[in-house]
Amino acid sequence: MATPNDLFEKCRTWDDAKKVQAAGVYPFFRPIAATEGSRVVTHGKRRVMIGSNNYLGLTHHPRVREAAKRAIDQYGTGCTGSRFLNGNLVLHEELEARLAVYLGKESALVLATGFLSNLGGLSALMGRNDVIYSDRENHASIVEGMRMSMGESVRFRHNDMADLERVIKLTRGKYEGAMIVADGVFSMSGDILNYPEVHRLGKEHNCRVYVDDAHALGVLGPKGQGTEFHFNMPGSADIVMGTFSKSFASLGGVLAASEDVIHYIKHKARPFIFSAAMPPAAAGTVLECLNIVEEEPQHLENLWKNARKMAREFRRMGFNTLGSETPIIPLLIGDDLAAFAFSQKLYENGVFATPVVKPAVPDGCALIRTSYMATHTDEDLDYVLEVMERLGKEFGIIGNSEREEQLRSLARHHFGERAVAPRAAAPVTAPVTA
Ligand code: PMP
Repeated sequence: MATPNDLFEKCRTWDDAKKVQAAGVYPFFRPIAATEGSRVVTHGKRRVMIGSNNYLGLTHHPRVREAAKRAIDQYGTGCTGSRFLNGNLVLHEELEARLAVYLGKESALVLATGFLSNLGGLSALMGRNDVIYSDRENHASIVEGMRMSMGESVRFRHNDMADLERVIKLTRGKYEGAMIVADGVFSMSGDILNYPEVHRLGKEHNCRVYVDDAHALGVLGPKGQGTEFHFNMPGSADIVMGTFSKSFASLGGVLAASEDVIHYIKHKARPFIFSAAMPPAAAGTVLECLNIVEEEPQHLENLWKNARKMAREFRRMGFNTLGSETPIIPLLIGDDLAAFAFSQKLYENGVFATPVVKPAVPDGCALIRTSYMATHTDEDLDYVLEVMERLGKEFGIIGNSEREEQLRSLARHHFGERAVAPRAAAPVTAPVTA
C-alpha cells in the first residue's frame, strides 16, 4: 500500500541536473542572443553551431524570411484554433498539395509539430488488435505515439533486419493489422534505415511500412525527398512522416500517404483535431523552402560536401563516429561526465555541440552529437576540427591506441558491427543524384 505524501517532494529532492550544474558543465538551455544559423552568440561570445538540425541552412535565407513575412501580412500571426474548426487556411492546403507531389504520395496532412504528427498518425491508426514493429532507436515521439495507441508494440534490434524478421515471424499471427515503424535517418547515430529490406519484409508478412523522415527530408534523395528516394524506391512506403523543424527551417509536421489513409487520420487523430493549426509564417516558410530545394541545388551539394569532409577528418583523427552515413556525425566519448566536460570545453573554445547521455544512449556510450549545415564555411569547419583534435587528445579519446580500441569494442557491443565496420571508415554516402 502506498503512503500518501506531497506530490512535489520529488521536485525538491531530484538533483541529477543540479549536480551537473554545480560541476560547471551543464550543457542545456544555453540562451542564444543572436544567430546566423551556422554561428550563434551565447554568453556574449560567437560560436560555431554544430548542434542544430538546420541542415540546409535555410532559416536565414532571404527568400524564406520574405515568404514568412508575406504569410503574416496575408493571414496574421496565428490561426487561433484547430484546422478542423476555424484554423484551416488556403495556405495549409496549398502546402499539402505541394508536399504530396514532392513526397510522391496521393495525399498529405500538415500538423502543428513533428511530435504531434507521430502521436496523431500512430494513435489514429493502431487499434486494439494491431501491432507496431519498432526499431529500438526510434524517436521518442514514435514511442509516445505507440503508448497512446490502443495497439501493442514489439521492438527489434536497431536496424537489424534479421531481428526484425525474427520478431515478425514469432508474433505476426497474434495480431490483425501490423506496421513496421522506423526512422529513415536515426537522429543520434546518423545511420540510414535499411529501407529496401524493411519494405521487402513488410510485403512478405503483410505489414504496412511507416518511415519517420524527420532527419531525411531535405537531406537524402536527389532533391531531399527522403529515404525512399535515396534508395530509388519513390512512393513505396505506406506512410511517410516528416518535420519542418529541421531542413525546412520552421515548425510543423507532415504525414503523407494514400487519400484514404489521410482522410481517416484527419478525422480520427486527436493531436491534430484538438490542437491549433501551424501558424501562417511557418506554413509560408515551408512552401518557400520547397521552391528553393527545387531551384537551388547548391544547398544540398554543400551540405554533403561539408558532411563528407567532417566524417573523413574525424575518422582520420581516430574518433569513433558509429558508422554515421549522414550529416549527423556522433563522436563516441564514453561516460556521461566525460561527455559533459568535453561539451563544456568545446563551448569554452567557441564550438556549440551538445552531449547525448543515457537514457538516450546505452550506459557508458555517451556521445557528442555533431551535425553539419550547407552554410558552414571551410573556415568554420577547419576551426571545429582543430578544436576537436586538441580536445580529443587532451581527453584521451584519440591518439591513444588502447583507449581507441576500448571505444571500438564498446561501439561494437552496443551498436553492432556496422558501428566499426570498414564501411564506417569510408566517406559518408553521397545522395543519389539521378
Ligand atoms: N521524429 C524524429 C526522428 C525527430 O528527431 C524529431 C525531433 N527531434 C521528431 C520526430 C519531432 O519533430 P518536431 O521537433 O518537429 O516536433
